[in-house]
Amino acid sequence: MTRHHASAALVGAVLAATPALANDEFFPTFGNTGYDVQSYDIALDVDPAKNTIAGVATLTVVAERQLGVFTLDLAGLTVSSVKVDGVAAKFSRDADKLKVASPFPVRKGNTARVEVRYGGTPTPIQDPTAPGDPDYVLGWMHYKSAPYALSEPVGASTFYPANDEPTDRAAFRFRITVDEPFTAVANGDLVDVIDRGARRTFVWSMPQPMTTWLATVHVNKFKLSTAMAGRRPVRVYATAATKPADVKGYLKAAAMITWLEPLVGPYPYASYGSVTVDDPALYYALETQAMSTFPTGAADESIVVHELAHQWFGDSVSVQEWRDLWLAEGFATYIETLWPNRNDPAAFDAAMAGLYDYAKQKALGPAVVDGPEEIFSNRTYVRGGLTLYALRQKVGDKVFFQILKSWASWFRGQAVDTQDFIDTAVLVSGDQSVRPLLDAWLYQKPLPDFPAAASGAAPVAANAAAVANLVGLRCGLGRAHGSPAASCGN
Ligand SMILES: [Zn+2]
Repeated sequence: MTRHHASAALVGAVLAATPALANDEFFPTFGNTGYDVQSYDIALDVDPAKNTIAGVATLTVVAERQLGVFTLDLAGLTVSSVKVDGVAAKFSRDADKLKVASPFPVRKGNTARVEVRYGGTPTPIQDPTAPGDPDYVLGWMHYKSAPYALSEPVGASTFYPANDEPTDRAAFRFRITVDEPFTAVANGDLVDVIDRGARRTFVWSMPQPMTTWLATVHVNKFKLSTAMAGRRPVRVYATAATKPADVKGYLKAAAMITWLEPLVGPYPYASYGSVTVDDPALYYALETQAMSTFPTGAADESIVVHELAHQWFGDSVSVQEWRDLWLAEGFATYIETLWPNRNDPAAFDAAMAGLYDYAKQKALGPAVVDGPEEIFSNRTYVRGGLTLYALRQKVGDKVFFQILKSWASWFRGQAVDTQDFIDTAVLVSGDQSVRPLLDAWLYQKPLPDFPAAASGAAPVAANAAAVANLVGLRCGLGRAHGSPAASCGN
């Protein structure tokens, strides 16, 4: 779905409640209709050695039509009971759907509590962005008594019943019970630890709306380190195998928040965190909301700042449709390129010129992509980042960051699309010619010319080292996001 706002209506439109929309075109079997989830309360009893879970998920939903029979996404696992407002409901399974027959009709606009009791050994599902490649799986994973869950784009239903589509954002609470000495980590803030003798329940709260794919759970024997970004804690939950130098690297997010806030506006959550994973099969870091996940040795500043940038761009302001993922990855690429060159504008321009040469050499198509296999391609990352650079060259640094600030503020906690961004850029800059410029970068196949500064300065020489770093990180072990090998570097 593409929304077109009249400029004057834009600010008003973002204040209206956003209902859950239809399923995503790229992943049509995920997501459900008829209701909008307001909150998930996910209680999981986890045995990390056996890799089993026993769960009670309570979803508070608002009916968008009279609700009788409805479905949830749930992959594998065994359901033992479903209740609607405390009354037992009949249910059945059909592939990766849980079909619920409410014992009474829930009237349109009314709220209902749906409780699902379930359990078993969670099994990751095939990543549909790399179909047929068994190395690419999503959801609940397990390595040496240390389960962890990473779900972009559609893995959430491997560990909780979900309305697994990107527009249905909700508050989350996790209550994860594990044996001593294990610790459970999830999104947001640890608000309680309940002592149950040899067991402990870790209660994590993410009150700001979150998409299903950003929900994460980790169980391991973590060591906690903390730094401060102003009054906000920046935490690192590190496994025993995480090198002290890497812990220091993740803690640099505190300084990065202090640098980013004047540019793009307030950090959107109460705290930030990083959690590390030892599993050698994990090849990417992920911007799991307010608690980013990093594989072994991925503490390079470019990766740390990339995942941090997503907290504003990708998490707080999230994509409504997966084709628009440049709204997350293009922004993270821009900020990742800016961070090391923040005090050297010429070096930043050179790094962008290097990215442009790469885009030209690879004939990268437009940033808005056409199919699920392309969402993690360098069309999304590199051409997406160059799109923002072209905008910055057109309107200048001051207006450019006003656009980014407005975007992060007006659409905070919302799912957005590319047209929303174009409208915002035109509105804030007051420059109608921004529209065809962005259209060419985002939708048209030919790569536009390298964007010279408005002053007419000539393009600077490519900074080959910076490009090799950015592209290499993504395509190597520590790449900053999941780009399947098939599309990596294309
Ligand atoms: Zn990313």
